[in-house]
Parts: sequence; C-alpha cells; structure tokens
Amino acid sequence: MAEKKEHKIITSDAAKTASSKGVAAQQIAQSTVGLRIGSVVLWIVALVAEFLAIKASFIPAPAEDEEATLFMGMAPFTALIVFLVIDLICVIGGSLLWKKANHIHPASEKNALTFWLWNNLGVIMAAVAFIPFIILLLTNKNADQKTKTVGTIVAVVAMLIAGFSSYDYNPYSAEEQQEILKMEEATSTVFWTEGGKVFHIYEDCQHLNQSEELHQTTTQEAEQAGKERLCKTCLKRHEKEVAETPAEVSEEGQSALEEASETVNDAVEDVKEVKNEVEEAVEE
Ligand SMILES: [Zn+2]
Repeated sequence: MAEKKEHKIITSDAAKTASSKGVAAQQIAQSTVGLRIGSVVLWIVALVAEFLAIKASFIPAPAEDEEATLFMGMAPFTALIVFLVIDLICVIGGSLLWKKANHIHPASEKNALTFWLWNNLGVIMAAVAFIPFIILLLTNKNADQKTKTVGTIVAVVAMLIAGFSSYDYNPYSAEEQQEILKMEEATSTVFWTEGGKVFHIYEDCQHLNQSEELHQTTTQEAEQAGKERLCKTCLKRHEKEVAETPAEVSEEGQSALEEASETVNDAVEDVKEVKNEVEEAVEE
C-alpha cells in the first residue's frame, strides 16, 4: 500500500460554524465557573451550619429551676436539628452544582484516583459536614443522653442521604467528551476532493490517502460541488461508531441530575419529619 499523504484541508466558513454547534462543542464553550463557585459557597454554608449545630450541642441543659438558655432564639436542641437540616440541604445543593459542572467540563480519567475524587468531592464534603459533629457530640460529657442519641441518629441519616445523593453514578470524562466532539465534527462536516465523485465523513478514510488537498464543507456544499453521495467505507465506519458510542451522554447526565434533585427533595422531607418527631418528643 502506498504511503499516506498529509492533507491540506480547505475548510468552508459554513463548515467552521457547523462543527461548533454540537452538544460537546457547546459544553466546551460553556463556562462552569459560576457553578463551581456556587457549589463551594454552599459547602462553606454547610460547614458554618455544622459549626453552629456543634455550638448548640455544647449548651448545658438547664437545672430544674432554671430557664432554658436559648441559642439564636431557639431551644438548643431545636437549633441543633435546624442547623443539621441546613447543613444537609447545603451539602446536597453544592454537590448537585458540582456534578452539573463536571458534566459540562469533565475531568480526565487518565488518573483514576483524581478522577474519582474530583467527581465525588460531594461525597467527601458529606463526610466533612457531619463526622466532626457526630464525634464531638458523642464525646461531649455535658450533653444529655437524649441529645446524644437523637442528634447522632439525625446526623448519621443526614450524612448517608448527602453521601448517596452526592455520588456521581454516571461520571463523564474529558476523553468521552473528546470522542463525542469527534463524532459531532465528523457528522456535521464532510471531506471531498476536486476529482472525486463522493464525499467522506472521515478525513483519514482510506480512499483519501492519496489526495493532497481536501475540502471540508457542509454536506449541502458538497452536493453543490457535484459530489453525489457519501462514501460507503465512511458510512460503514460511522454506523459502527454510532453503535459503540454511549448515546446521549448529556441526556443521561440530565436525568441523573433530575433524579438527584428528587432525592434531595425527599431527603429534605425526611429530615423535616424527623425534626417534627423530635420536637414532639421534646414537648412530651
Ligand atoms: Zn470515505
């Protein structure tokens, strides 16, 4: 087989804009700075809420004849539950924004550990947002048994809910995005030679090996230039690649987000219920 020639590609203006319209191309052009800042801010609020819940847990129970000390206008135990709920909501909110950003600008999967850590930063935040509280509550000699038991249960449940909804079940990688981008570029523009009768999807199609100069245009422009149909080799290869590429990654990401936000709503409801039960129990 003769040696493959380097192609000189002449790209039409319409082809240039066509290849920048795909989903992956749009993602690459999109900024995720706002989403990242939003998630970090929410995570910071979560840590502040955790700190306040810890402070509330350190207020000693009043003696029999004493008025209860209020913590930010609430009974300390109520305050503790309220701040854990805020903690939970902010951890999950931050994680959802973080995951959304990762599905627009994914990390490279070349290093499996950093890829996992980057995608599941929310899981780590869920641990950081509850474990110190749990440890300090359990080792707090001043806290009464009821505060310890109920506070620990609420915090553990909240941590599990936050952890499971922060986990990225469908991680998206920079490599996958590049594949999709290639597919988008391949299908939105075509290649052809002056002398040829057909147009090609792939620049490296074997039938183009001997061509020095290639035109890259939209399909419409190729037809206008007299190229009658798509090359059969390219068609076969394209069909094969489509079958192998996980279709609609972005839709998958979208539905994962929707599911996650439903989980958050459920979690918030659960925590509210627990809080009501706790309050009822306190009143009794
Ligand atoms: Zn071809």
